[in-house]
Amino acid sequence: MEDITIEKADYIVAHYAHLMNLEERKALRHHISTLKLDETKDVRLTRVYLKTGWLSDDPLILNYLSEGYIQFTLNCAERILKDNPDEVFFNLCPVCKKLARTPFAKQCRWCGHDWH
Ligand SMILES: [Zn+2]
Repeated sequence: MEDITIEKADYIVAHYAHLMNLEERKALRHHISTLKLDETKDVRLTRVYLKTGWLSDDPLILNYLSEGYIQFTLNCAERILKDNPDEVFFNLCPVCKKLARTPFAKQCRWCGHDWH
C-alpha cells in the first residue's frame, strides 16, 4: 500500500467520516472541543463538555491524540483505508492525476480541468 499523504488523510476524514470507529469519533470530537474551549477559556463550559462526552478524559481516547492531530488524522485515514479498501474512492483528476476536493467533484482545483 502506498504511503498516505496528509492531503489524502484530510480527504478521507472529511468525506468518509462515517467509516471512523467509535474511538476515533470520540478522539476527533475531543480535539474539536479542545479547540473551541481554547477560545473561550470557560471553566464551566469545560465541565459541561466533559459531562456530555464532547471532551474525553479516557486515556484510551486521549492516546489517539498523543502525537498531535495531524498524526491522528494520518493513523485514522490509514486504518479506514486498510479496513475499507473498496469504499474509499480517490477522485483523481484525469489530466493532472491530483486529488479533487471531494469524491463527487468534477472539476480539478489544481489544473482547472472540467470533466462534467
Ligand atoms: Zn487536474
